[in-house]
Formats: sequence, C-alpha cells, structure tokens
Amino acid sequence: MAMQQVCILGSTGSIGRSTLDVLARHPGRLRVRTLSAHSRMEALAQQAHQHQAAIVIVPDDAARQRFLDAWPAGATLPRIHVGAQALCEAVSDPVVTTVMAAIVGAAGLPSVLAAARAGKRILLANKEALVAAGSLLMQAVRESGAELLPIDSEHNAIFQCLPPAGQVGAPSRPARGVRRLLLTASGGPFLKTPLAQLDDITPDQACAHPNWRMGRKISVDSATMVNKGLEVMEAHWLFAMPQDRIQVVIHPQSVVHSMVEYEDGSILAQMGQPDMRTPIAHGLGFPERIESGVGLMTLTQMGRLDFEAPDLDRFPCLALAFCALRSGQHACIAFNAANEVAVARFLAGRLRYTRIAGVISACLDHVQTCTTHALHTLEDILALDDAIRRFAASRCHPDA
Ligand code: NAD
Ligand code: MG
Repeated sequence: MAMQQVCILGSTGSIGRSTLDVLARHPGRLRVRTLSAHSRMEALAQQAHQHQAAIVIVPDDAARQRFLDAWPAGATLPRIHVGAQALCEAVSDPVVTTVMAAIVGAAGLPSVLAAARAGKRILLANKEALVAAGSLLMQAVRESGAELLPIDSEHNAIFQCLPPAGQVGAPSRPARGVRRLLLTASGGPFLKTPLAQLDDITPDQACAHPNWRMGRKISVDSATMVNKGLEVMEAHWLFAMPQDRIQVVIHPQSVVHSMVEYEDGSILAQMGQPDMRTPIAHGLGFPERIESGVGLMTLTQMGRLDFEAPDLDRFPCLALAFCALRSGQHACIAFNAANEVAVARFLAGRLRYTRIAGVISACLDHVQTCTTHALHTLEDILALDDAIRRFAASRCHPDA
C-alpha cells in the first residue's frame, strides 16, 4: 500500500483532531502533508510540530505571526501559506493524495471543490459544501474521477451498508435494489425538554450533546435538528436519492448510525460507538479496515435500542429542510446560509434559540424572489450565499 499524504483542512477542530489521532496510529501508511486552521494558532503549531507537517495554512498575517510566536525554538519550520486561496492551492498539491475536508460551514466549499477538480481522495466531513453546491461538486467528482468518501457518521454508515459497486465516486442514480435510506438522529439535548422552556436555552446548554463531542456550530445544529436537515440534503447528493426515499428516525442511543432498506424487506444497519474515529478510520483505510482507537461496544451492557418518529412541532427546522430540498438548490443554499448566520448570533448570545427557525423560514420566503439568480458556477453560488447572509442578518433582532 503506497503511503497516503494527507492534507487536513480544519485540523484544530473536533474532526481534525480525531483525524490526527487515527493518523498517528498508522505511520507506515499515513503521513501529514498539510494542516490548516482559522484560529487557535498555538494548537496548530503544536500539531504541525508533533506530526511534522510540511505546510501549514493560516488565515492572515496576524495569525502567521501568532503561529511563529508559538513555534518551538530551533525546530525546522514548515512552509507557511496565508489566506483562503492557499486552501485551494494546498488541495491541488501533487504530493497530496488525500484531503480531509473538516472546515465548518460553507467557508469550506471552495477548497472541497478544488480537491474534487484535482481528482483527490476526499474524506468529506464538511456537509455544508455539499448542501450549497451538490450538483457542481458531484459533477466535478464525476469528471475528475475523484474519490468521495463520506465521513459524517450517518452517511458513512449508509455507505458501508450499500452494495459495494459504484458508490465511491458520484452515482447518478440510487443503488439497485435499495428502497429507502433511514437516517438516524439522537434528538439532541432537548428531545424531552418542555417546549415552553426552549425560549431560554443558553449556548452551553445547546452545545451539551448527550452522545457526541463536536464543534459548537454542529452541536447547536444537532439540538435544532438543522443538522439532520443538512444530512438529508447531503444523502440526496451523495447517493442520488430522491428526498421522499430518505426517512429520519429518532434513535436516542446513537448506536445505529444509519440504515439502508432494500426492496426485499431487508434493513442493513451499521452500529458502533458514537466516536468519529470509526468513520474517519474507514475513510483513511478504505477499502481496508484499520485500527481507529475506538474501544469495544458491549451490546449486552447496552440493553435496548429505541426508535421513534421525529416531532416536527419540536423540530420545525427539520420540516423546513425537507421544504427546502423540495424547492431546489436556491432554497438549500438559503437554508444553510440563514442557519450559519442565526447560529453564530445565538452562540454570541445575541439571538434566542427559538428564533433560529424563524430566521431560516424568513430566508426561505425571501429566496423565492431570487430564483432567477443563476447557479452555474462557484461564484454564482457564493453570491447567493452572501445575499442570503445579509438578509438573514437583517432578520436577527437581538430582542426578538
Ligand atoms: P470545529 O468548529 O470543531 O472545527 C472547525 C475547523 O475549521 C477548525 O479547525 C477551524 O479553525 C476551521 N475553520 C473555521 N472557520 C473557518 C474558515 N472560515 N476558514 C477556514 N477554516 C475555518 O468543527 P467540527 O465539529 O470539527 O466540524 C467540522 C465539519 O465536520 C462541519 O462541517 C461539521 O458539520 C462536520 N461534522 C462534524 C462532526 C463532529 O463530530 N464534530 C460529525 C459529522 C460532521
Ligand atoms: Mg452526522
């Protein structure tokens, strides 16, 4: 097996750190080539030093200086590249074989698209890229012969349960014999919270996920179930599946990561600990299985697995996501951009938790007036994303 040279975009985040943990277990087959981060330059310097990265990417000159200040005296410096464009150049580096796309939000889109155009093996954690630009991204994968491997635990589970043929690239129709995809969702921290209490939810309460340790944005998305909405869109693009054949099932234990239902009545499920190192190791090792550091799961101690239908009064954002997917790409871009703006405001203490759904809904109404806006290129998509962000900001009243 040839050595894989890995570029990790967003290495200081939750997925980035788990990726480095798996990578360090396999020095004979996986090597760090490039690391990038947007903040926490001390953490980036520590990672780059420990894993002997050849290149690091930082957002601006001030961050470059903080990186240099944190670098251990006397150690050989990596090359330091600055700015968003450097992310796109890094993924096209001929030495890089594998790109872990673990930037959070639509900010990760240009670099994911560049990796697809460069024909790399892409481990896709950054679901927002696929939500905003599914058609463009899948076309780029098809044309370049890139390998797109899902890292999101649900999509990785589905990938493992599908028939092996033809799923690594960009399928143009659902796999033969498959009736439906069943996406599991934990229901987050507020599955049983009385609805009247949701108005006063704080950022720390929303980020306290019962089963998973994740970045703050995706933790809020899990609480509102925006995350599951984004994942329905992600599944639609990854597996060429119409939205009426994707079902969301609440499963509070987060042990069954998702399922594939076949025409003959079989349902195949993938199970495991709620630890992202399992799907990350699956992507890094594919098609072989490699050690991930995840401990054993003892089924007899688990006792029971529960499944229930989602309550759309409790989770209005999930209903909005299905509406957006039915409406098309303009609405999916609006759904994602509105949510990113609303969640950032909520995390900054400037928007009520229950207003997140209101901001998304207002943007979905507003985007109806933008449907003549072309979406052929990355620039078209980023322009609509930007317009929606400005509109969303105008709907985020702090006292609403
Ligand atoms: P995180 O907030 O912990 O980390 C995000 C990383 O991206 C950091 O390294 C940060 O420096 C970098 N970053 C942030 N903004 C950036 C910008 N504008 N430009 C460049 N880099 C930027 O997030 P996370 O939880 O690791 O999630 C990363 C992605 O993976 C998200 O798209 C999320 O939906 C997806 N995902 C995460 C999990 C999980 O368990 N954490 C599971 C499934 C999918
Ligand atoms: Mg997920």
